[in-house]
Amino acid sequence: MAHRDAQPEHATRPKRSAHADAVAGALLGTAVGDAFGAAAEGAPSTTIAAAQRALEQRRQHAPLAWTDDTELAWILAETLAQGVATAGRTAPDALDEDALVGRIAARADLRRGYGGGMIALVQRWRAGQPWREATTAVFPDGSFGNGGAMRVAPLGAACAFDPGAGTELARRQAAITHAHPLGQDGAVVQARAVGLATARGRFGRDELAALVEVPATAELHAALADALRLADQVHGEADDAVLAEAVARLGAEVVAWRSVPLALWIAAVTGSVPRAVTLAVAAGGDADTIGAMAAAVRGAADGASAIPQEWIDAVEDGPHLAGHARELADALTG
Ligand SMILES: [Mg+2]
Repeated sequence: MAHRDAQPEHATRPKRSAHADAVAGALLGTAVGDAFGAAAEGAPSTTIAAAQRALEQRRQHAPLAWTDDTELAWILAETLAQGVATAGRTAPDALDEDALVGRIAARADLRRGYGGGMIALVQRWRAGQPWREATTAVFPDGSFGNGGAMRVAPLGAACAFDPGAGTELARRQAAITHAHPLGQDGAVVQARAVGLATARGRFGRDELAALVEVPATAELHAALADALRLADQVHGEADDAVLAEAVARLGAEVVAWRSVPLALWIAAVTGSVPRAVTLAVAAGGDADTIGAMAAAVRGAADGASAIPQEWIDAVEDGPHLAGHARELADALTG
């Protein structure tokens, strides 16, 4: 039996790892993108300068409420953290879908911008219907919305050094609500993007290029190839013209293959969480979810410590969320 006294007494507590900072950044990026993007949800696209002014004004009206994107990302992170504590590592057996469904059923505040399909699902779960039956009953052909992708960032960051586990876990956490291959593929692509941003500590055109072969569906594969071509048109800061072209070609909608590619393009052509959120708001459409996904990738690449404090403070419960994000990140990377 190892003797603890053999450990040097002067050993200092290790600093929080870069990996944990990236996981916390993915969580906080999700919350910041969601809360700042929420007021623009469903809005038409606008100029980057107008979006910048709108965000400045929004900051004056803090606290900004977060929506389903943040709530579900946190619930997924907590469920996975519990699984990691039991399994001892971020492995496929670290995700228990029944536990995830149970946590969402117990905790989801359905007034927080949930879509009609998700509300119907959660109500069925609360009535005791098994999740596989409920998903088929509510979406007979399977949902291909972006709900599986919008919440997956902490999982993607946690699995950054095991892409195989990241892919499998992303698909399985999506399947509780999204039986359609496109809904699951969107979640896998978003998780792998956050994982790559975490592992490399950056996210630009090379990372986007590395993701083009990840999708299992032709739709997402083609859209990511197109996003890469659009990223190659950006030298320096993205302007209104290239953003308008990206929105026209990639979409800013609620379906997975017409939102994840734009979010990843935004993450690749911006250098910070605030700039990513600004472009998502300027893009219009599903701005809270596209903002959350783009900012999650940037948050993972840059680390939580790079997100400006005033942006975190403007989010509802921001300081508390930041502390909780760091605790979850430690648990997911410990
Ligand atoms: Mg939302």
